Amino acid sequence: MQALSGLSLEQLQSFCLEQGFPKFTARQLCDWMYRKRVGNFDSMTNLSLKIRARLNEIATVGRSAPVDCQTSADGTKKYLFAIQDPQSDGHNHVESVYIPDGDRATLCVSCQRGCKMGCRFCVTGKQGFHGSLDAAAILNQIFSIPESETLSNIVFMGMGEPLDNYDALCQSLQVLTADWGLGWSPHRITVSTVGITPMLRRLLDETQVHVAVSLHNPFADERAAIMPMQKAYPIADIISLLKQYNWFGQRRISFEYTMFRGINDDLVHAAELVRLLKGLRCRVNLIRFHASPEMPYKTSDERTMTAFEDYLNAHGVTCTIRASRGEDIMAACGLLAGKNK
Ligand code: SF4
Repeated sequence: MQALSGLSLEQLQSFCLEQGFPKFTARQLCDWMYRKRVGNFDSMTNLSLKIRARLNEIATVGRSAPVDCQTSADGTKKYLFAIQDPQSDGHNHVESVYIPDGDRATLCVSCQRGCKMGCRFCVTGKQGFHGSLDAAAILNQIFSIPESETLSNIVFMGMGEPLDNYDALCQSLQVLTADWGLGWSPHRITVSTVGITPMLRRLLDETQVHVAVSLHNPFADERAAIMPMQKAYPIADIISLLKQYNWFGQRRISFEYTMFRGINDDLVHAAELVRLLKGLRCRVNLIRFHASPEMPYKTSDERTMTAFEDYLNAHGVTCTIRASRGEDIMAACGLLAGKNK
């Protein structure tokens, strides 16, 4: 059965015409699915009984409630979603992380089951790749949590590489930002990437969302040792692409930099970062590495992280140490495994 959630107004209009429904049914469907967040056709009371019956025969909205939720001592919640996939290899779950913070509430969503990028420090990367989510499954994470209506921001930083699932990502972004969808400002949304350059160029040209690039090491050979995709998409090329765009308006570019003890936390790395980012209006977020027995890396100590942060700020690169959230429930950066308890 076809899931309608994720379809644009235009796609829904074609669908309705194919089914012999009036064209305005498409707008009514958008209103029910995206504005009113209704997950079944029977509740769409301004559609005729005949249309509702036909919709029930051939389609679904594409919503399913999370199958598990763990709550951290700091209020962060990790939701587990089951993904329906007839070709499934057994890895059928993804996780989303709800992060309340004062008057903000951010949801970190997943785009894929596992990931092809193979970053050496990431639990998701260790699993390998098991499939991409369609737009309905991406949006379901946003629409099916109890806090859905309180969300102020969405970050595409969960399991998978968003730019390796570009079409579904863009369909989801369209639903979030279009006037027939949620009508959000694109500046409430951040897409994180290792920097698949051709797709990054498309994202920059086709949307206005904020972008976060996983940098983690400014030296090409050292970055390649922890991020194999450096070989295909060198960080120098990513930065020179980013420098072709204007970052002086509302749109923001940031760099994620996870600190590994003795690997990338020396001031030599900080100095090279300053050189690399010169001329780019951006922010660097330092992230505490969450050590686990299966990983060969250790966490940088507080003093080293603060010295690194101070060095960047003193040399004109805005830098902050990002607060770690949800570590006790394995919801922090790089720890999402999509595993049922
Ligand atoms: Fe994939 Fe992101 Fe993990 Fe890298 S850090 S393996 S891109 S999920």
